[in-house]
Amino acid sequence: MARGILLYAEVTRQGYIHTVFFELANKAVELSKKLNNAPIYAVLFADSIEEYKEGFNGIDRVYIYKKGYSTETYSNNIVELIKELEPEIMLIGATTHGRDLAPRISSTLGTGLTADCIELDINEKGQLAATRPTFGGQLMATILCKTYPQMATVRPKVFKPSIDLEVKNTEFIHKQTKTTEEKVRLLEFIKGLDDTKNELDSAEVIVAGGKGMKSEEGFKLLKEFADKIGGVVGASRGAVEMGYAPHTMQIGQTGKTVTPKLYIACGISGAIQHTVGITGSDYIISINTDPDAPIFEVSDIGVVGDVFEILPQLLEKLK
Ligand SMILES: Cc1cc2nc3c(=O)[nH]c(=O)nc-3n(C[C@H](O)[C@H](O)[C@H](O)COP(=O)(O)OP(=O)(O)OC[C@H]3O[C@@H](n4cnc5c(N)ncnc54)[C@H](O)[C@@H]3O)c2cc1C
Repeated sequence: MARGILLYAEVTRQGYIHTVFFELANKAVELSKKLNNAPIYAVLFADSIEEYKEGFNGIDRVYIYKKGYSTETYSNNIVELIKELEPEIMLIGATTHGRDLAPRISSTLGTGLTADCIELDINEKGQLAATRPTFGGQLMATILCKTYPQMATVRPKVFKPSIDLEVKNTEFIHKQTKTTEEKVRLLEFIKGLDDTKNELDSAEVIVAGGKGMKSEEGFKLLKEFADKIGGVVGASRGAVEMGYAPHTMQIGQTGKTVTPKLYIACGISGAIQHTVGITGSDYIISINTDPDAPIFEVSDIGVVGDVFEILPQLLEKLK
């Protein structure tokens, strides 16, 4: 019978464990209590465990494989591990990396995957109740999975991290890594994705552009401004669809959820599918030519004006 919760401990390109893992660990401890203290496992791909040993509070057992990302190698090894452990739940961070890995695991195993969850619970039947926004963030859907493991990806920063968790006598088990020849070389692509992912996920200041930025050139102006104030550039889907920015920069329902201290929206109308991804920001400033743009409803400061006049003036002042 399936038992236990397996977590994916993502190691970023910078070599640290992604914060979403600690958030998953915290939630897993809560879920485990509702599952008669089901064991919590983690799977980690790393060259050595020494530098990561401290990070596994609350985890019973960590399975370690050799590092070197390829979707197929990672997913095939995790699939084998799942067959061995038979966990009832597997959780992965909804990072660019996690979003690449999770569907491959679930489709290989023929099990369900609820993507981009913002809440997890155990229902009265002991099933994982995974909640995610739907219909443009206007409704919350709680999804159950009939097959095992019940899989979910979880957005970063929706759960608190596991800093206060009980330090367990965690067991570390080194596994043989079976490498798989990649059919498609995606490494360059993933490299590009990772850079933006890590920056936007942890950025304290984000300068985001929409269709109102008019071109890729417009985004260069945003970048110049963002660099000046120590920020990171993000984009609306409108801008992504126009080809002004890559999808990895997209913020909102089908992009990233961000929680910066300061979010500056330039030429973004403020559709619900965009604002759902920015409401965790401490402070929102918007620049838009349309005084009735919905973005102003979620903004602390709204500037009605042309972004191509305002940003150069601000840059000049900053210089
Ligand atoms: C299922 C679904 C999922 C979606 N997911 C996302 C998502 O994740 N993220 C997302 O962003 N959208 C998402 N969308 C799309 C969303 O509904 C909007 O279409 C999109 O956010 C609009 O992008 P925009 O604000 O850049 O463009 P527009 O709505 O065209 O707004 C452009 C704005 O720029 C202003 N402007 C123009 N020129 C200037 C100037 N010179 N100076 C200042 N302001 C100017 C205009 O007044 C206007 O308000 C989704 C839609 C669906 C249906």
